[in-house]
Amino acid sequence: MPVSTARARALGKIMCAVTASTLWYPVAGDIRDRRPGAVLQCRVGSGQATYHRFDEGQNQHRITFGLRMILAKHQPGSAVGWLSSREITDRGYFDGQLSTLNLLAHTCCHEFAHLLQHAAGQRRRGSVHNRHFYAILDRLHRQGQARTVRDELVRQAGSQGLSIPDQPFDPASATDLLARWHVGDRVAFGTRGARRQGVIERINRKTATVRVPDGWQGLRYRVPASLLNPPDA
Ligand SMILES: [Zn+2]
Repeated sequence: MPVSTARARALGKIMCAVTASTLWYPVAGDIRDRRPGAVLQCRVGSGQATYHRFDEGQNQHRITFGLRMILAKHQPGSAVGWLSSREITDRGYFDGQLSTLNLLAHTCCHEFAHLLQHAAGQRRRGSVHNRHFYAILDRLHRQGQARTVRDELVRQAGSQGLSIPDQPFDPASATDLLARWHVGDRVAFGTRGARRQGVIERINRKTATVRVPDGWQGLRYRVPASLLNPPDA
């Protein structure tokens, strides 16, 4: 179900509030034991980029939820390309069920897991989604914080007269999945350890041909639609 930009922005602000109240406040004390004065600033960005960053100078954790990411997660065809979709289905989070609500709740957890990973000194360049990261993310789901985030999103959205769709998506067809990509788009594919990034050179019937920098001509891969993702943040 498409959603207006204004509603998506309001949902983004709720994601920020819930990330702070449900995930950050309970552990902020522990994080400040290691780094006194550290704060969290959460905002809604205008593009699709969704990420955690730590600003050393300001001693500030920054989480950005991209407006276009929120819009994309309202449409099965565009939602399935995101790493968060793959994490939900592959790791069985929220019973492996893809819906807008589950995706947005999981996105709060994913970015917060980066914050915890950074606070624990386990975020390294070139190895962001590493086993430390997934140990943290698994824990957020296993110990129930992820469900609390989801409940809080529903509650706060409801109190503003908004709703977040929670009916499961139908598995999207390759055609739907490919519809969001265009020649020239930067994409990532592959799994941890063998993750590659490149540029779409051709859209085929069920796959995209992606050129990955390697030597002067690059390497070409035919990547199934379901494995294409936005480039890593
Ligand atoms: Zn990430």
